[in-house]
Amino acid sequence: MNIQTKTGKPAKRKQSPARPSRAEAEAAVRTLLLWAGEDPTREGLLDTPKRVVKSYEEFFKGYDEDPMAILSRTFEETDGYDEIILLKDIRLESHCEHHMVPIIGRVHVAYLPGSRVVGISKLARVVEVYAKRLQIQEKMTAQIANAIDTVLQPQGVGVVIKAEHFCMTARGIMKPGTDLVTSRMLGCFRDSAVTRQEFLSMIE
Ligand SMILES: [Zn+2]
Repeated sequence: MNIQTKTGKPAKRKQSPARPSRAEAEAAVRTLLLWAGEDPTREGLLDTPKRVVKSYEEFFKGYDEDPMAILSRTFEETDGYDEIILLKDIRLESHCEHHMVPIIGRVHVAYLPGSRVVGISKLARVVEVYAKRLQIQEKMTAQIANAIDTVLQPQGVGVVIKAEHFCMTARGIMKPGTDLVTSRMLGCFRDSAVTRQEFLSMIE
């Protein structure tokens, strides 16, 4: 199997013996179109399997990226900065692993640095890597916090995610307007009520 990126270079996609070819993936989309009651040979749907498979490459590109590597470049010259660093309202677009429908929301990532800080865009990229996989929100919240904790070894980490699950708002129990809120607090964000409270008041 040879997956090509836009630049023509082969993507660093993990190979697994079970991974089907692109043609097989497109055939699977045709099967789902038939299942939905459609005619995959009609004009408007002819290229749909190709587009869906391409979309899947974007939705699930996080499997090919390593969040630890993203965080590994750190800076130590901070002139003794020792307050909370917070990147708030990071847009989240993920997919639930039970229904493969969108999870859309916001992520707030904070840490209290030890001796090292990381470029702020890297925090957003770590969120992106975990979001672009099939997920449950609880696990994704923990993964983001754990990755920052492991690589940066800060005094503490706090991650809060508020997100709408389309499997709940657009199907099933049909409760639009509901958000699932999850949090993972580590280090001083877990142990110190003052630090946790400061973080929570910053994201209100
Ligand atoms: Zn779901």
